[in-house]
Amino acid sequence: MEKRLRLAPSPTGLLHIGTARTALFNWLYAKKTNGKFLIRIEDTDILRSKSEYTCNILEGLKWLGLNWDEEPIQQSKRISIHKNYIKRLLENGAAYRCFTSESEILELREKQKIRGLPPKHDNRHRNLTSKEIEKFISQGRSSVIRFKIDEKTEIKWKDHIRGEIKWQGKDLGGDLVLSRRALGYEIGNPLYNLAVVVDDNFMNITHVIRGEDHISNTAKQILIYRALGFKLPIFSHTPLILNNEGKKLSKRDSVTSIDEFREMGYLPEALANYMSFLGWSIKTPESEILSLSEISKIFNLSDVNKAGAKFSWEKLNWINSQYIKKMELTKLSGFIKKYWIDKGWESPSKEWDLKLTALIKDSMILLKDAIDQSKPFFSMSQIQRDGKEFLENIKDAKESLKYILIYLKEENISKINDNNAKEIITKISVNHSIKKGIVMKSLRIAFFGCLSGPDLIQSWELLSENKRDITLIKRCLI
Ligand code: GLU
Repeated sequence: MEKRLRLAPSPTGLLHIGTARTALFNWLYAKKTNGKFLIRIEDTDILRSKSEYTCNILEGLKWLGLNWDEEPIQQSKRISIHKNYIKRLLENGAAYRCFTSESEILELREKQKIRGLPPKHDNRHRNLTSKEIEKFISQGRSSVIRFKIDEKTEIKWKDHIRGEIKWQGKDLGGDLVLSRRALGYEIGNPLYNLAVVVDDNFMNITHVIRGEDHISNTAKQILIYRALGFKLPIFSHTPLILNNEGKKLSKRDSVTSIDEFREMGYLPEALANYMSFLGWSIKTPESEILSLSEISKIFNLSDVNKAGAKFSWEKLNWINSQYIKKMELTKLSGFIKKYWIDKGWESPSKEWDLKLTALIKDSMILLKDAIDQSKPFFSMSQIQRDGKEFLENIKDAKESLKYILIYLKEENISKINDNNAKEIITKISVNHSIKKGIVMKSLRIAFFGCLSGPDLIQSWELLSENKRDITLIKRCLI
């Protein structure tokens, strides 16, 4: 039978890494089994759901390469269907109308708090007669629909990640609210646990993979599945993503949306590759740099850990740098060029762009590192303290720069290449008895303002393209 998986995001915020990782595990399992990956937008919370969040979620998934196989389902379009199922539960006695008011619920909670008990509804209206119901309605009291939960029932399922999970009916907080408040004999808008079961059944979902924070919902949903006579899917609950302190990753950890990762300069392939390791690991890793299609071949739900997955910036950065290193040069140059355009930096030629890209790519971790790395090739960097000290205190440092200028002029050299650069440095060193190291360090300071930076000869070649090398050397001699 075809395996059908789904992501069911609520569009109440931007696509978050937790949801993206859930999407990824669903997608990987669907691909591995030649199944389908579907999307259902759970937008029944009218106040908090926004269409721009739906767009953001779908765009983020696409950016990560997690394409879906059928047109997304919009849950809000199915409200009347959900209500029909609630009617069915009312009719067969599995659910009932409950008129407990908000203040009565608060009162109950207070009493439970005093006795140190967890909040739990007392199911006070489970057995109302039709007369009593009529009376409440005529008094203008609103009602929700509650689903009966047998206190003595034990709910058991075989979770594909966690093995057997058991949940006691008495621990589910009393009879479950299926719909919001409504007046008269109306049924209010259906709530998550009912809608999710009806829609997963409608979409023929065979496997539900979602975060471990949904385990108690699964217990409730299994009871609804049974009451409606639906076939149960196979459930798997993924571990939470944790921060360094072992707490659930949140906005405070400066990671929120996939958009932010994108803006920070992470590549989608690298982020998806890294996310797959958030809770899953390869038994015998040859390389951790794997494409989604490679991962989908070796991905197994049984290899997903039960314990929380620690988010590591270090590992994500390392993976991103590996992707930058192996990226095709023209493609990488295209990304980098966008930053230059934003900065108003103009380059002399396409060939030059590729050369500079090749020069800086190995020291890039994020795409946006290209800004700092390429800055000295477009604008004059300040001379740093170590650079100043070197030029002032080291014998022959400034002189070596002077000799270079003279040599360039006398020999009429306007373009530097690997050969003539090395020749110039050797000649200055030999003719004036200055150590090669001093000539090179002085040049480095002229170009980059400090003693570090990319390959000196290649940099010189690029800088000489529009004579910036001369300007940069001259500024050290003033
Ligand atoms: N809308 C729910 C959420 O975003 C879906 C959970 C589920 O996968 O059933 O948490």
